[in-house]
Amino acid sequence: MTDQPDRFSEHAGPSMECDPHPPLPTPAQTPYAEPHWDALQSERLLIQECVDCGERQHFPRPWCRNCASETLDWIESDGRAELYSYSVPRRPVEVVEYEPAVPYVVGLVDLDVGVRVVSTVVNCDIGDVEIGMDLQAVYDHVTEDVTLVRFEPA
Ligand SMILES: [Zn+2]
Repeated sequence: MTDQPDRFSEHAGPSMECDPHPPLPTPAQTPYAEPHWDALQSERLLIQECVDCGERQHFPRPWCRNCASETLDWIESDGRAELYSYSVPRRPVEVVEYEPAVPYVVGLVDLDVGVRVVSTVVNCDIGDVEIGMDLQAVYDHVTEDVTLVRFEPA
């Protein structure tokens, strides 16, 4: 025993009623991306395609990143993809909410429709993740209103 006060004692008692790991933040949902978010709710992946130049893009934007046209349509991906590259965060970066999530796999994922997206690779051991591996979209209903697309080995 020592006379030193327990440095964690201030966190004991009623303050422990607070959830030390609040839910992860969810992306902001913008009006022009509404079809994308609505489709995710029903486990469909929509990608923007420019009517004027044919450029496809993800994440959704109010204009084409290639020609600045505001005439955009939506195409559906069947979720087949290939892992272009990845990284494994092992420490949360300034966002305490991510502490219980590490380590996880952040991937640059090439969709079958020719668009590269940033997402997480799930449902496999980190040691089994390889550049070039075939992936398939899976849908994570993180809240009642928000579904995120992630990828697992195909
Ligand atoms: Zn365009």
